Amino acid sequence: MPDLATVVAEIAAEMAAREDRGTVATYIPELGRVDPDQFAIAVALADGSVVEGGACETFFSIQSVSKVFTLTLALGLAGDRLWNRVGREPSGSRFNSIVQLEQERGIPRNPFINAGAIAVTDTILSGHQPKEALGEILRFLQFVANDDAVFIDRQVAASEERTGFNNRALANFMKGFGVLDHPVEHVLGVYFHHCAIAMTARQLARAGSFLAHQGRNPATGHRVVTAERARRINAVMLTCGHYDGSGEFAYRVGLPGKSGVGGAILAIVPGKASVAVWSPGLDASGNSHLGRIALERLTARMGWSVFGAS
Ligand code: GLN
Repeated sequence: MPDLATVVAEIAAEMAAREDRGTVATYIPELGRVDPDQFAIAVALADGSVVEGGACETFFSIQSVSKVFTLTLALGLAGDRLWNRVGREPSGSRFNSIVQLEQERGIPRNPFINAGAIAVTDTILSGHQPKEALGEILRFLQFVANDDAVFIDRQVAASEERTGFNNRALANFMKGFGVLDHPVEHVLGVYFHHCAIAMTARQLARAGSFLAHQGRNPATGHRVVTAERARRINAVMLTCGHYDGSGEFAYRVGLPGKSGVGGAILAIVPGKASVAVWSPGLDASGNSHLGRIALERLTARMGWSVFGAS
């Protein structure tokens, strides 16, 4: 088995030198300003240590990676009833697609596309004012990362609020079908702000650790969810975590993973590690271009694919 620290250092060096960096998302203007020449990889291990390469202390917008944590919270609140209002099948369409919503009576295909995450956010709002619900989400991220420095980037949230016409369409459409309980603007306000949570690669890798270790964060000893729930969240990440690029990600990387348009990917190596990669340039499906390549290198070198070593 190669030495993990050596592999991580080599990956960081290769990614720094590559010219193909993908394209940063510009539909949220604030994200369009991020320098594409950045890269970070952090691997949180079972003993609580983190092996790092690149800019692991730089904060980035986690965007849709937040959907893993909102799903975890909503399952805690609603249990399996959550699955009455959101499915768990891959969508095969873009992250912000509206097409299936009409055919499936406003029930989103899975919790990791925008429509699904908006339905999940509506669940978290039950019995709460928007501010409280958002506070709960932020505190949960700080708890799993074991770091109070995790914060909401208000400028990114405002930028998305100004330009979020597509998400407004999705939410209104679901509201028309009776799928959302709360006012559309409340749900979207919380949704835009949790997408705007800012973290470092080190924090994100730690935050995902409970998913790699049967629901328990090995660094703190805290049980976050049951082992069964962790396993199921990983299953949804594997099948749905990369939108219409989920099949390609499973084929190339072979791990449960969740991407965001800020260029982050959280990937889980069950029993071994939680990995955060970040590089802002995206591929055609809206997933980090170099992030995916870095994970492909990591799983191949370490034999970490859930489908077997090669
Ligand atoms: N906040 C983004 C949006 O709603 C999240 C999308 C993503 O990361 N894929 O469009």
